[in-house]
Amino acid sequence: MFDYVAPADFLEQKSILITGASDGIGKCCAITFAKYGANLILLGRSLEKLEQVYDEVEAINPGRVSIQPIDFKAAQEDAYATLATSVAENYDCLDGLILNASMLGARNPIEFVPADVWEETMRVNVNSTFLLTKAMLPLLRLSRDARLLFISSSVGRKGRAHWGAYGVSKFAIEGLMQTLAEEMEKTSTVKVNSLNPGGTRTGMRQEAYPAEDPYSLPTPEDLMPVYLYLLSTEAQGIHGQAIDARDFEPGKYFPPPKK
Ligand code: NDP
Repeated sequence: MFDYVAPADFLEQKSILITGASDGIGKCCAITFAKYGANLILLGRSLEKLEQVYDEVEAINPGRVSIQPIDFKAAQEDAYATLATSVAENYDCLDGLILNASMLGARNPIEFVPADVWEETMRVNVNSTFLLTKAMLPLLRLSRDARLLFISSSVGRKGRAHWGAYGVSKFAIEGLMQTLAEEMEKTSTVKVNSLNPGGTRTGMRQEAYPAEDPYSLPTPEDLMPVYLYLLSTEAQGIHGQAIDARDFEPGKYFPPPKK
């Protein structure tokens, strides 16, 4: 795995919003970013789980975290606008947006994906990501060096049988990333990328591969050097890239030098 020693407190004064922060990789991001001094806005579906993460983060970096339960299945555009207003009331800008939440849903051949499962998966994985990005862009533009990270998957980069709506939703995320990255390139300093964490020891992975030995997989903690690097000033030149956490090497993602 990629090894990166982030400078102490390098996220001090940075405000970062993480979706899906109540569990798995998103929760690990919250705890890790808190250790580097970040102000955190944590979203998750379950208030109870978010409160546990809140307690852990408070113990690391008191007074710098807020939590907001939201169910992306049901949330409408006005809920995202309200969220943006509340962030704007508390912070000058948003320096990081980690769009990490998603649901796996039923995995069937396309022919047998129930229409309601398709719609629900698209609402949670795609629509929420679009709506939150749209609501937060004015705040990201106010940052001198904002990072927007869409969390993707290998099944969103090459189609795989039986991954149904989940796989297709991740293709949509890649499309959103590419479109937005090009739009941001000349009009802002916001850096937009997607990141595929790769198989990681979480509840979602266990749901997808129930027979797999979870101890054969990297943990969310193992991935954190990549996430921290992508928030660092060293990664400022990485933009519009579909990044893999597994075998991550920064050099692969910088634009080639101009002739
Ligand atoms: P987990 O299942 O551990 O966590 C998912 C998070 O998303 C939870 O915080 C959950 O909230 C939240 N969430 C799910 N549904 C909703 C909803 N309807 N509304 C709001 N929040 C919701 O997943 P991982 O940590 O494994 O995955 C994180 C990201 O990484 C995902 O985008 C996933 O697709 C991607 N990924 C993961 C891989 C892996 O092997 N783990 C591999 C490739 C990609 P709550 O806990 O409150 O329900």
